[in-house]
Amino acid sequence: MRQTDIPVLISGGGPVGLATAVELAHHGVRSMVVEPRESVSWLRPRAKTTSARSMELLRRWGLAETLRARSPLAVSWSDAAVFTTGLLGREITRIGGCFGLDLTGSDLAAEPGQQVPQPIVEEVLREAAGDALLTGWRVAGLREDADGVTVDLTSAAGDTREVRAAYVVGCDGARSVTREAIGARYEGRQDARPNFNVVFRAPGLADRVPHGPAVHYWVLNPAQPGMLGRLDLEDLWWCIAQGVPAAGTDPVRLVRNLVGADVEVEILATDPWTARMLLADRYAGGRVFLAGDAAHQNPPYGGHGFNTGIGDAVNIGWKLAAVLSGWAPASLLTSYEAERRPVAAATIEAAAANMATLAPELADPALMGSEPEFERVRPAVAEAVRRTKDSEFHSLDLVLGYTYDGSPVVAGGCGERLPHRWLAPGESLYDRLGPAFSLVGDLSSPEAKVLVERAAELGVPLREVDLPDAPGTLALVRPDQHVAWRSSAPGDAAHALDLAVGRPS
Ligand SMILES: Cc1cc2nc3c(=O)[nH]c(=O)nc-3n(C[C@H](O)[C@H](O)[C@H](O)COP(=O)(O)OP(=O)(O)OC[C@H]3O[C@@H](n4cnc5c(N)ncnc54)[C@H](O)[C@@H]3O)c2cc1C
Repeated sequence: MRQTDIPVLISGGGPVGLATAVELAHHGVRSMVVEPRESVSWLRPRAKTTSARSMELLRRWGLAETLRARSPLAVSWSDAAVFTTGLLGREITRIGGCFGLDLTGSDLAAEPGQQVPQPIVEEVLREAAGDALLTGWRVAGLREDADGVTVDLTSAAGDTREVRAAYVVGCDGARSVTREAIGARYEGRQDARPNFNVVFRAPGLADRVPHGPAVHYWVLNPAQPGMLGRLDLEDLWWCIAQGVPAAGTDPVRLVRNLVGADVEVEILATDPWTARMLLADRYAGGRVFLAGDAAHQNPPYGGHGFNTGIGDAVNIGWKLAAVLSGWAPASLLTSYEAERRPVAAATIEAAAANMATLAPELADPALMGSEPEFERVRPAVAEAVRRTKDSEFHSLDLVLGYTYDGSPVVAGGCGERLPHRWLAPGESLYDRLGPAFSLVGDLSSPEAKVLVERAAELGVPLREVDLPDAPGTLALVRPDQHVAWRSSAPGDAAHALDLAVGRPS
């Protein structure tokens, strides 16, 4: 048997690979993140929406405030999406409370969402991952055996190196080498329509926008539909145009058409892409697991992609830590796919539904006509926007409401995220939870005693959180803040912890 060099090797240091390393470190487990990119890709900002749930998880790592401090658009800056005839054109309607950005101080969540370009999220996570990150190298292949995984690495210069890990998490994105290595396959389809992203600088443009701050400006001009938004409060902008092929597209013209005026534009980057609805047929080999885009891809509408991956990272991270620390059997790991694959399937479905009606479908030639023509069609277009776009901008049922009910490691009827509440100004119930399991509620109940004793027998770290104002209620809360067992659920307390850590009954 060969000695392992590292408990967990993570292939890919995008947001999900980095988050996996941070989660493992949160539990005191070392990892190595292998990533070819020396630095983050500033000119390919991709995700701008970090969900309220991801922000809660960042808060759990002590990183939520850091990310907000680095975000060029403060959460209080805007929670609106504005629908217009052009960035400088006429306003048709607007939607407020987008992406959970209005949740500051709400009982629903410990954190509101945050609009922030993906490279900034990656930088914050790179810093948190620290020495775990190995840049300039990529995973070339891997071989599993009963005791571990042998991973072949190659550097940009062509050097090779072999690393032995107890477990591997493949977070290497759409073209995952890890997925290939375990023989898993994407299933699903891709959208026929090409999309074209542009990052541009437009000095003084923001001062001319008549609609005020908004996180999205949707342009419903049939001649050039699309969407724009700000990357910072200086002059940096992003835009997406749907149905625009890369070949033959003049990005300056495209931006000016969306703006609705021949403004000064400096193109910094263009990025053609295709929306995909793909789900890996399985998430695991024996000691190798897939997370993030390596396991699933969805259209970006609703801003779910990397957020779903952060949920994967936390789920596989705490479970690997539990197994490596010796307080859970390896059978716990089989629950990863059972819990996370259905969440990805639901997310793909929701994002595909959001994609069914975009700016090209909402655009109407009469909007571009005279004032009376515009006013004639405006109510119908506004109504169509409300009808078709609500779920894209208001998706807390998906973002905060997904459950692991039906998982082999939660009691029947449980699996939901522990309902949030404020215990004192600025102090969330979540802040009191332990890094591993927590027992939350009425600790004077006999069931609490049973659970505390069983945790001691099994060596499972258990933080006791007494809530004197919740008599008779008790919840066994997992490291990821989901409820494994609750006193009102069927199943007795004596077996709740065994079930939650994957011990065969
Ligand atoms: C236009 C657009 C807008 C989007 N908006 C949002 C949004 O608002 N919110 C949201 O949540 N998501 C959004 N997404 C999706 C989001 O960008 C992805 O879901 C996210 O990047 C996935 O993260 P990841 O870490 O799984 O994969 P990636 O970000 O793809 O990272 C994979 C990493 O693996 C590395 N890698 C590749 N091969 C290897 C190898 N062989 N060995 C080692 N490393 C390797 C790569 O260099 C890369 O760093 C958007 C996407 C697009 C295209």
